[in-house]
Amino acid sequence: MTRRYDDSVPNPPRSPSRAPEPSPANPLGGVHSTYPGPRAGISRDTSLSWWRRILPIIASHRVAFVASISLSFASLVFQTLVPNLLNGAITNAVARHTASLQRAVIEIIALGLLAGVSGVLSRHYLYRTAYEVEADLRSLIYEHLTWLSFSFYDRVQSGQLISRANSDIRSVQMYSTFAPLIVVQTFIGVLAFGFMLRIDPLLACIAMVVMPILYVVGIKMRRVLFPISWITQARLADVATIVDENVNGVRVVKSFAQEEAEINRLADAAERVAWAYVKDAQIRGQWSPWLQNLPQLGLALVLAFGGIMVIHGTLGVGAILAFNAYLLMLQAPFMMLGQLVMMGQRAKASAERIFEILDEHPEVVERPGAYDLVDVRGALDFEHVSFGYGPDLEVLKDFDLHIDAGETVALVGRTGSGKSTVARLATRFYDVTEGAVRVDGHDVRDVTMWSLRQNVGVVLDEPFLFSVTVGENIAYGVPHASLDEIEAAARAAAAHDFITTLPDGYDTVVGERGYTLSGGQRQRIAIARTLLVNPPVLILDDATSAIDVHVESMIHEALGTLMSSRTTLVIAHRISTIALARRVVVLDEGRVVADGTHDELLAGSRLYAEILAQTMVEGH
Ligand code: ADP
Ligand code: MG
Repeated sequence: MTRRYDDSVPNPPRSPSRAPEPSPANPLGGVHSTYPGPRAGISRDTSLSWWRRILPIIASHRVAFVASISLSFASLVFQTLVPNLLNGAITNAVARHTASLQRAVIEIIALGLLAGVSGVLSRHYLYRTAYEVEADLRSLIYEHLTWLSFSFYDRVQSGQLISRANSDIRSVQMYSTFAPLIVVQTFIGVLAFGFMLRIDPLLACIAMVVMPILYVVGIKMRRVLFPISWITQARLADVATIVDENVNGVRVVKSFAQEEAEINRLADAAERVAWAYVKDAQIRGQWSPWLQNLPQLGLALVLAFGGIMVIHGTLGVGAILAFNAYLLMLQAPFMMLGQLVMMGQRAKASAERIFEILDEHPEVVERPGAYDLVDVRGALDFEHVSFGYGPDLEVLKDFDLHIDAGETVALVGRTGSGKSTVARLATRFYDVTEGAVRVDGHDVRDVTMWSLRQNVGVVLDEPFLFSVTVGENIAYGVPHASLDEIEAAARAAAAHDFITTLPDGYDTVVGERGYTLSGGQRQRIAIARTLLVNPPVLILDDATSAIDVHVESMIHEALGTLMSSRTTLVIAHRISTIALARRVVVLDEGRVVADGTHDELLAGSRLYAEILAQTMVEGH
């Protein structure tokens, strides 16, 4: 694995020895594509200009890139030689009969072939570089996104982030690969002008009169077009968001019978896009005739002045033809130079947004020298832990809880009291602000994240399923698990029976986010997924809230046998779930306010009685 970054920013933990081998049975088990991944990352030096920071990525494709630029240079040089040859051929072979026409024709054909072949090759290499740079940027960003901490996702709207990243990647890619090409074209323009000067300096200057006007008109047009194209993009993104919300939120839309309102909302957004496109077309329509016809004015000037010179015998007739061709060649760089500036501005803005993501440092990182947790017995300690999601609000204040290896503890508290937060700290989704979380006495900040999450398993209350088969979803953490192991985990989670009634059993593909399953079924698959990993410390965060009481008792039975050898923290509301634990801990205002058996707490803690009464009223 090559190093991705210039300096010693900690990289994502990626030890090949640990990464699960890709398994054909589990498409999510690992990365296995033919794309080898980016060869370089952006420069980490934020003081550099944006293109200097992107440069390492382009430099990593330098062979193809340099080949494409040189070939396009060669192709254009061949093209510029043709009018010059034409000039000689017409004046000397056709008009004056002093040279061989046949030779000139063969030479022109040969040059045309050379120009054509190098043009094809240069385009091939250019597109290859362009799309490889794009793929690099894309995987750098997505890789970085997977690496970032939970706190980042609390802050940003990930959907918008990703769609924005796509257009930003495109504009940086376009500029960084096509800008050099435009520069090459400009050089060629200079060369063409050189040839014109050599043929006739005065006529060359006359012919060039329109070029600065062309340049200015080009810039002016883009200056009005530029904001419109931004507006178009933003409005297209609006449409995409509405469509996305309507597809993902279709259940809400339909249940409130808001289809018509949504259709109107979409129609409005679509019309706003149409307005932007029409405006764009109008501007182009107004300006394009100038751009197209100004060069004709140049040609007319050449014909007028050149014609007089030919009549007076001071210029060969071929020169007029050659000038004609050169003027057409010069047109492109003069128009494109203006575009280059605009593309540059857009690419700069895009690159800065990309950097915003790539410069984001994950808050939870492995410290250098972190070691693996091995042979975990399962003692879990929260030592005077304080924590808040932001600087203002402390969720846990001096939270102190010690759980022995093999113990089962129920954590109870009002909604919003911080129970889920406790679970998130144990798996180090966030870092504590004060105090420490320890597994077997090891501070979770000292051990590798991989080994911590292998040993402390958490089942979240909102289980996320991938759009793959049920079996693959259960095997997510252990891609190599055998069918028997998967089944055993499913049985323990009381999921086996309902899975076998699905059309394809374990091979049934669950719909997007598991919507084809009921909430309780999703929760059972999520429990099976964690049980398969068989972590010594298991945390169930409201993981059975949507499961029927009698099914829950089946799970408890299975967990009961499993739990004897494992530490379990159950976050729950129902008495049936709480009864699973011999020890109950009540959390309030960020600290432990009561600790004992169910009966002790019922007698001694008013809050506990209150919470239980509450959940009974709610029907749990
Ligand atoms: P519980 O699981 O006990 O219902 P949580 O631990 O989920 O409570 O939340 C505790 C408090 O922290 C709540 O006030 C909640 O609003 C806040 N909170 C939870 N998650 C986040 C988050 N990702 N960002 C900011 N605040 C959060
Ligand atoms: Mg919660």
